[in-house]
Amino acid sequence: MKPGIHPEYVEATVICACGNTWKTRSTRPVLKTDICSKCHPFYTGEQRIVDTAGQVERFMQRVETSQRLQQVSDERRRAKEERRRARQIIELPDEQRSPAEEAD
Ligand SMILES: [Zn+2]
Repeated sequence: MKPGIHPEYVEATVICACGNTWKTRSTRPVLKTDICSKCHPFYTGEQRIVDTAGQVERFMQRVETSQRLQQVSDERRRAKEERRRARQIIELPDEQRSPAEEAD
């Protein structure tokens, strides 16, 4: 080993946000982590979403916005359809309506 270029390799304590700790070796004496094998949903089998960057929240907001826009669009389509029917009735007041038109 070339002297003076290698970092010191010491015993390190890993501390997880869930409270779990264990020892390993590292160039740093203390390592802190957000998640470990004791608390990660993959290992616990728990149905939980690990959301550190607010991605789930942003996704839910997009879904909400999309649904709202879809609702507005549906309302406009319905109103347009109603206006179209109203116009037809005005334009053809005395004409006999066919059975196909009666159905819808
Ligand atoms: Zn943990």
